[in-house]
This record gives sequence, C-alpha cells and structure tokens, in this order.
Amino acid sequence: MKWKIDKQTAVQNLMDLLAADGPSGNEGPVADVVKQKLLRAGCKPEWMRHTGLKRLSNEFTIGNLVVKIPGTVKAPRLMFSAHLDTVPICRGAVPVKKGNRIVPQGKTGLGGDNRASVAAIVTMAQTVLQNNLPHPPITLLFTVGEENGLHGAKAFEPADGGNPAMCFNLDGSGERGGVIGALGAIRWEATVRGKSVHAAVNPEGGVSSVIIAANAIAWLKANGWFGRINKGSCKGTANVGTLSGGEADNQVMDYLRVTGECRSHNPASLQKISKVWKTAFEKAARSLKNNQGECGAVEFYTASDYRGFRLKTSEPVVKRFLRAAPEAGRKAYTEIISAGLDANILNEKGIPTITFDAGNFHAHDLNEYVAIPRYLEACTLTAVLATAE
Ligand SMILES: [Zn+2]
Repeated sequence: MKWKIDKQTAVQNLMDLLAADGPSGNEGPVADVVKQKLLRAGCKPEWMRHTGLKRLSNEFTIGNLVVKIPGTVKAPRLMFSAHLDTVPICRGAVPVKKGNRIVPQGKTGLGGDNRASVAAIVTMAQTVLQNNLPHPPITLLFTVGEENGLHGAKAFEPADGGNPAMCFNLDGSGERGGVIGALGAIRWEATVRGKSVHAAVNPEGGVSSVIIAANAIAWLKANGWFGRINKGSCKGTANVGTLSGGEADNQVMDYLRVTGECRSHNPASLQKISKVWKTAFEKAARSLKNNQGECGAVEFYTASDYRGFRLKTSEPVVKRFLRAAPEAGRKAYTEIISAGLDANILNEKGIPTITFDAGNFHAHDLNEYVAIPRYLEACTLTAVLATAE
C-alpha cells in the first residue's frame, strides 16, 4: 500500500472524541465532533443524516448518525459501524497521554469503549478522502444506545445505510481477532403472586410469593440450571438479576417481581434454558399451598434480547478481514465471544458483520486505557478494508 495514515491526526481524533460527552441516550455532543471532523475531511453535509429516532424510545435525544460516502469504483457497498455511547462510569472523563497509552486523568472510566472505534472510522474516512484512495461506496454507521441494550442497532434499517453488502463493526475490549460469532440472550421477568394475610394472626392462610421464587431458584441451582449450564448438548448461562416486591413486614408477601437473563451460543439451548426456568417457577407456584389448599401463580415473560450468530469463514466479509489484517500488522484469525454486540443485531438484519477491536482495554472499568499502537493498527486496518482491493 502506497499510503499511510497520519498518526498525529489519528491520535488527535481519539483525544477529541474521548473528551466529548455521550452517555446512552445523550450522544449529541460526540456526534457533533464526528460530523465536524468529517466535514473538514471533505464529506458533504448531504451525505450525513440521523436516522431511526422515531424507532427509539423517548429517552433518546438523537438517532444513529449515518454517513454515505459515494464510491469511486463500482463494487458492493461496505459499512463500518461503531457505537457512540459510553457507560456511566465514564462521565466527566478527561483523557491524558501517558507513554504509549491514553488513560483517564481522574477516577473515571475512559470511554475508549467505544471512542477508539469511532476515532478509527473517522481516521479512515479522512485517509480515504484526503488521499483520493479508490473506494467502493461506503456507509459509516455510528449507533446510539449500544451499552444499554443495542438500541441504535435495533432501530437501524439496512435501507437507511443504502443496503450495504457487509459490515465491519469496531468494538470491544482487549486484543481480539475478527469476531465471527457471539451468543444470544433472553431476558425474562417472572411476576409471582401469592396470597396476602396477616403474618402473625393467620400465617397458615398465606401463600408467600418469596417462598415460591426461593423454591424455584433453589431447584434450578441444585439441578445445574443456574450460573454456568453444562447439561449434555445444552450449554449456556442463567442468572437472577433483580427481586422486588412486598409491602409490609407483617404481611405475607403476595407480590414479587423477579428478573434475569439466559444466554447461549446455541438458539435451541437458549430456548431450552428459558423453558426450564419458566417451568420451574410454574411448578413452584403450584406446589406451595396454604391451609385452604390454595396456591399462588406465576406469569413468566421472556423477550429475546438478541440472537446469537456464527459467520462462515467462507463469507466475503470474513475473507476480506483476514486478507486485510496482516497489511495493518495484525494477526489474521477469527474467534467467537460470549457477549452481545451491535453485530448480533446487524447479522440478524441480514448484513454479514464481523467485529474487531480498536485497541481499548479494561472497558467499563477505572483502569480503562487505549493502547496507542494497537489503536493505530485499527486505523490502518479500517482504511485497508475500505479501499478497493
Ligand atoms: Zn462497546
């Protein structure tokens, strides 16, 4: 390759983006920094727009930022995506350079998840436009609300991005290969209803919703369905996240809301795990009776958070990544991870999407940092991927 990224500009992009505010739902300030930089690099205002706000809940102030750069060569449209939002621990982060790293100055996270990725995509666009590198049509997708539930990706329609043939998503923490698979998750909510009576005058007449939930959860734990699940071909995890209910100490608890999640790489396992949980709660409700032979009831709702996916190594997006990685000084390998990403949603929407890291480490943590050499590799890799082959 005859061009090089401008390292100084790349690091400046990162510093500017890390300094901008952007908690989930309030990504306006960071989107503004992205737009300013792209305009200065030669993007036209009409290439940029925010989309999907109507499909987002009203806690969101902006929709996804979508930038469509016309191609200079005829080839399938490529998309590059990164989420704009950061987790609450990054509030007020002040980035400082320390040796080969960017670290937070005070006791905050850094927000390198996912500003390193946003900065790498911005650097790619500057590199491609300012060096007039031949390139297919390119879509940049900067999503909102990834951290609190992949909301921006869910609100994205492929047509908003010009129906790209494939997508390179930049995200994550730590050194990774190309992520070609990630697990699926189901969130569930159990509403447990018992019978309320005075806890001291007539305890025998009560049906306690907390006992129903406790019996269900204890059974699930004792039988290997809580925490890490490894039951023959059924593998995954399950967790109880919150409990809330009850009204008074002298009243048998007649209402309890329990929420949690199940995850698995395998969709059949995921269905199986959530079904076992539902059945356990229902059984526990039927078997706890008061002195009148009355029992409680459970309503168990599940919602698919995101589906798992697995790309074949023969997919063009995977092949393109594996060819480009060594040119940027990265090892060419793929892996499968145990977390949900915007890529889960984009793959579900029919855009084959691979994910790689932009040099961020210890995300969601006070020790978060960006390793500058790894970040610069990601900038080069993104530009290699974007230019014509
Ligand atoms: Zn992230």
